[in-house]
Amino acid sequence: MKKIFWLSLLAMLIVLSACSSNQASKEQEPDDATNEQKKDNAQEKENPEHAEDSASDGHKKDDNQGEKEQEADPDPEYRVSDTWNIVPLDKETNDEVALITIDDAPDKHAVEMAKTLKDLDVNAIFFVNGHFIESDEGQEKLKEIHDMGFLIGNHTYTHPFLPDLSADEQEEEIVRVNDKVEEIIGERPKFFRAPNGANTDHTKQVAKDEGMTLMNWTYGYDWEPEYQTKEKITDMMLNSEYLGNGANLLMHDRDWTAAALADIVEGLRDQGYELIDPKLIETE
Ligand SMILES: [Zn+2]
Repeated sequence: MKKIFWLSLLAMLIVLSACSSNQASKEQEPDDATNEQKKDNAQEKENPEHAEDSASDGHKKDDNQGEKEQEADPDPEYRVSDTWNIVPLDKETNDEVALITIDDAPDKHAVEMAKTLKDLDVNAIFFVNGHFIESDEGQEKLKEIHDMGFLIGNHTYTHPFLPDLSADEQEEEIVRVNDKVEEIIGERPKFFRAPNGANTDHTKQVAKDEGMTLMNWTYGYDWEPEYQTKEKITDMMLNSEYLGNGANLLMHDRDWTAAALADIVEGLRDQGYELIDPKLIETE
C-alpha cells in the first residue's frame, strides 16, 4: 500500500515537472506561452540557473571577423526576462517594444520573410534547424539572411522533443547546429530556442556552455489550423491578449505567416510598439 502511494506520488511529480518545464507536448502551443506568462514564479523556480546565465563567461562571444565585416555589437539595452519577454536594462529605455522571431528556418519562406522585414527596417532572430542547412541551397539561404543583418539562433538540428533524448543526443542536437552555422556564416548562434520550448537541465547547461541565452516566447499562433491564412494570423498576432510591452513574438517559416508579416509589423507599429533589434539584447 505504502509503495503504491509513493509510486503514484512520484508519478505525479514527474507529470507536474514535465508540465511546467515543457510548456507543450505539441509544437508550440499558445497555451504554453500563456502558462509561462502567468506562472512567472513557477518558471523562476523551474529555471533557477536561468537568471544567472548572463553572469557566465563570454569566451564564445568573439565574432569570427571572417569574410563578412562584422560591425561591433552595440551595447545591450534589453534582456530576456524569466517569462521570455524583452525588458529594458534601465528605466530610460523604451519598454513599449516587441521582438520578431522566425522559427524552423530557413525552409521555403525565410529569405522572403527576411526581405520583407528588411524593407520595413526591422531586425529579427531566425531560429534555424541544422537539417535545413545541409544542402547548398539551404546554406545560401542562411548566408543571405545573415548578410541582411539578421541574427541566427539555434533551434536544434532535427527539431526533436529534447526531453525524449539521451544527454549525449541532446548535446549533439544543439552543438552540431552551432558548428554548422559557424562553418557557413563564421559565427555561432547566441540564442537557443528548444523545439516546443522543451528544455532539460542538460540542454540548459549545454546552451550555457555554448554561450547561448535561452529564449522561448510570449505568444504565437501560426501552427494552429484556425490561423493559417494571412488575415487570420495577422488578426491574431495583433489582437492577442498577450500582446504587451516586451512581447516576444513567435512565428514560423510558413506560407501564411510570410504573407502576413508586413501587416503584422505595421499593425504593431500602429499600436505604438517599437520592434527592437535583437542585437540590443544581452547575451551570455
Ligand atoms: Zn520549431
